[in-house]
Amino acid sequence: MADRYTQFAGSPPGKFLVKQLGLPSPKELRRYEPGQDLLDGPALIGGAPGGRLAGTVARVLGDAGAEWFVHSPHVAKAAKVRGAKRNDDGERRYAALVYDATGITTSGELHDLYAFFHGSIARLAPFGRLIVLGTAPADAAAVPAKIAARALEGFTRSAAKEVRAGATAQLVYVAPGAEDGIEGTLRFLLSARSAFVSGQVVRIGQGATEGVADWEHPLAGKVALVTGASRGIGESIAETLARDGAHVVCLDIPAAGEALTTVANRIGGSSLQLDITAPDAPERLVAHLTERHGGVDVVVHNAGVTKDRTLARMTDEQWDVLMAINLTAQERLTDALLESGALREHGRIVSLSSMNGIAGQKGQANYATSKAGIIGFVEAMAPVLAERNVTVNAVAPGFIETQMTAAMPIATREAGRRMNSLSQGGLPRDVAETIAWLASPASGGVTGNTIRVDGQHLVGA
Ligand code: NAD
Repeated sequence: MADRYTQFAGSPPGKFLVKQLGLPSPKELRRYEPGQDLLDGPALIGGAPGGRLAGTVARVLGDAGAEWFVHSPHVAKAAKVRGAKRNDDGERRYAALVYDATGITTSGELHDLYAFFHGSIARLAPFGRLIVLGTAPADAAAVPAKIAARALEGFTRSAAKEVRAGATAQLVYVAPGAEDGIEGTLRFLLSARSAFVSGQVVRIGQGATEGVADWEHPLAGKVALVTGASRGIGESIAETLARDGAHVVCLDIPAAGEALTTVANRIGGSSLQLDITAPDAPERLVAHLTERHGGVDVVVHNAGVTKDRTLARMTDEQWDVLMAINLTAQERLTDALLESGALREHGRIVSLSSMNGIAGQKGQANYATSKAGIIGFVEAMAPVLAERNVTVNAVAPGFIETQMTAAMPIATREAGRRMNSLSQGGLPRDVAETIAWLASPASGGVTGNTIRVDGQHLVGA
C-alpha cells in the first residue's frame, strides 16, 4: 500500500502540483506476486567486445521466458543469435537494459558503456531494470583494467539516480569462473522482487551453487530459522521463505508467544519460544533444530532492538542489553550451529544490519555499533565458511514502513521516506525478498555481501 503522499502524487491534481513545485514524484512500486513473469517487456543486452557474460545473460532470460534483443553484432555472436531478427531498432521500450562490461580493460573503453546507455536509458520502461555486469577490481588482471572496473560503481550509482518511475540500477561484479553462478542473482535483480533495492554493488564468487528445479519454490525441502519472527520484518521474512517452499522455524521471546504461534500456524511452520540472549540459548536452539528437523539450512538473524539515547545520556543497560541482542547473541548462536554441525552443507546465514550501521545516527551509537558489527561478522565469517560451502551475507534496510517508523514524528518520518532515489519507504516484504534471494540454493557464489534495501538512500552510500 502506498503512503498518503504517494497516493496524492499519483492523482491528477497531485501530478499537476508535484510538477509545478518540483516535489518528489514516487511511483507505487511493482512488487512480486507468485506466477508473475520475470519481466513485463523485452530486455536489451549490450556489452563491450571481449565480454564473457552476454551469452549467459541471454540463456537466463530465455530460460525464464523473457524476450530479448541485442545491441551490437559482437553481442549477438556471444549470445549465439543465429539469424534471428533481434537487433535493437533504436525505438523499442525495454523492461531491462543489461550491459556486459567484462570486456572493458581500459578507461578509454568505458566510452562503450556510456554509448550503450546514452542511446537506451530513455527507453527504459517504468519499473525497468538497469544492470551492469563487470569484473571486480581485485579480479582484474592489469592496473588499467582495475581502474576501469572500479569506475563502473560511479556510473551505476549515478544511473540509479537518473532512472525514473520506479526503475532501479545495480552493478554485479562476477568473478572469473563464476559465470554459471549468476542466474539466481540476475533473476532477483531483474524481477519485481528487488523493487526497493537500487544503486547496489553485488559480488558473485565461485561458490558452489545448487540447481533450482522450480524457481517459484527454490527453498523446497529446506528448513529455515527466523529469529524475531512474531511481527514486523521477521514475520514477513518467515512468510516469504515459507512461500518459497521452506519449513520455517519461527523464533521469538516467550512474551511474544501468542503472536509467534499465529504466524507459525499461518505459514505452516513451527515455533520456538526462546530469548536468544539466555545463557543456554545456543544449546537449546541446536537441540531443537537437530531433534525436530535434523538440522537447518537457512538461518536469518533478524531479532533486534533499538534503545536510542545520545552517548552522554546512555545508560550501561541501554548499551549492554542492545549489544547482547543485536550482535553477541548472533555470534554465539552461529558458533553453536557450526560447531554442532546443525547448520548443514550449503547452509545460508543472513543477518539484519541497518543503513544506520553504515552511515551512523545521532542517538544510536549503540545500535549503529551493533549493526556495523554485523557487517564485520559477515566479512570475517565469509572466507571461513566458504570451506564448508556456507554463505553469510547481511541486508541493511533503510526506511521501512513498520510500527516502529509509523510512531516517528511526522517531519522525521517524511524526511526518512523521501530521501532516497525512489522517494518512498520500503515494505517489510522488500527486505524479505532480498533475504529469500540470499537464502536460495542458487546464491552459492554470493557471500560476504551487505546489500542495502533502502531505495538508494542518499545517506551513507
Ligand atoms: P520489531 O521490533 O518489530 O521486531 C523485532 C523482533 O525481535 C520482535 O518480535 C522481538 O520480540 C524480537 N526480539 C527482541 N529481542 C529478542 C530476544 N532477546 N530474543 C528473541 N527475539 C527477540 O523490529 P523490526 O522493525 O521488524 O526489525 C527487525 C530487524 O530489522 C531488526 O534487527 C532491526 O534492527 C532491523 N532493521 C529494521 C528497520 C526498520 O525500518 N524497521 C531498519 C533497519 C534495520
